[in-house]
Amino acid sequence: MSASATAAQRARELRAAGIDIIELAQGEPDFNTPDHVIEAAYRAMRAGQTHYTPADGTPELKAAIVAKFRRENGLEYKLENISAGAGGKQVLYNALMATLDPGDEVLIPAPSWVAYADITHFSEGTPVWLATKPENGFKLRAAELEAAITPRTKWLMLNSPSNPSGAVYSAAELRELAAVLERQPHVWTISDDMYEHILYDGRSFATLAAVAPQLGNRILTLNGASKTYAMTGWRLGYAAGPVELIRAMWRLQAQSSLNPSSISQAAAIAALNGPQDIVRERCAIFETRRNAIVKWIKAVPGLACESPHGAFYLYVSCAGWLGKKTPQGKVLANDADVVAYLLDSGVALPNGAGYGLSPYFRISFASSMENLEEACKRIDAAARKLG
Ligand code: PLP
Repeated sequence: MSASATAAQRARELRAAGIDIIELAQGEPDFNTPDHVIEAAYRAMRAGQTHYTPADGTPELKAAIVAKFRRENGLEYKLENISAGAGGKQVLYNALMATLDPGDEVLIPAPSWVAYADITHFSEGTPVWLATKPENGFKLRAAELEAAITPRTKWLMLNSPSNPSGAVYSAAELRELAAVLERQPHVWTISDDMYEHILYDGRSFATLAAVAPQLGNRILTLNGASKTYAMTGWRLGYAAGPVELIRAMWRLQAQSSLNPSSISQAAAIAALNGPQDIVRERCAIFETRRNAIVKWIKAVPGLACESPHGAFYLYVSCAGWLGKKTPQGKVLANDADVVAYLLDSGVALPNGAGYGLSPYFRISFASSMENLEEACKRIDAAARKLG
């Protein structure tokens, strides 16, 4: 289980035992799915869209995805370049399973979403963590990428805005990475754009396939409805890439789960083709929360963080707490000890080790302002009790 799922599970158990816990572990918007999307799903069910569909999505859904890539990213695809599955996670799983041979290496800038390494392991590949530096905004530099590539490198994972650091790559930074990738024709890239629409301070979004069209036939661009439209439970993700790869992913899905839910597909069509204002409104709410939580956490003794540029996570360095003693007499040796201490203090959070870079913990600010404020008070009180 991932660090965030473990922390959320622990919070549920403690709550069931009557203990007051604030859980800021889950990576999902705390908003409801927009009404017009729910209505579209209902209409689809009423209209009999309750049957099998083509394994990797209906032509209507694929057309909506093609239109999205054209409208929002300036990318041109045909239906045969598109694959839809039960969440971005399944699409990612299909891609790695379909392409990795034992020992193939997957470059994963750290910190990163834990699934990249776990799915690489499942696929008998070798995850290669590349530690990024906070002073570089937790972003991979071209020279670091170049130094990490070996003849066994198959994939580079790029995720912007990033879970868990909130790092956002500019078009210029992507161009620098693309210059390296151009010289390494055996290396393919998964561009995980899941948090595309959660961007702060007026930043604009850049994606590798648009910035470096010369790499287009070795990029899989991953996205989905989960974070943009608050649709995590509907399970609808998608990707665009070269036809041969999409076909290989289709084969896997056709012999495992088959099509993503027909109803979720209808809902995603409404989300993609419908009004987008709600996405911007919700992003503004996340930004207000980000501003507040960054201020609160920076005021806590021994903690340090950068203001995230996108997504809804704060990656907090707890280096200043290590070696200190809790009131129970335990010396905090690593970030696992830190989150255990914070759990005892009433806040459930995942630690940085799960994301490949320690000593940190991650706070999801996809929660109400009241929850965030109370959690920060508890974290602050915990800090002041360390000896
Ligand atoms: N990519 C990143 C970086 C994520 O954080 C997540 C979910 O947490 C996903 C992809 C997958 O989301 P889903 O499977 O809900 O589409």
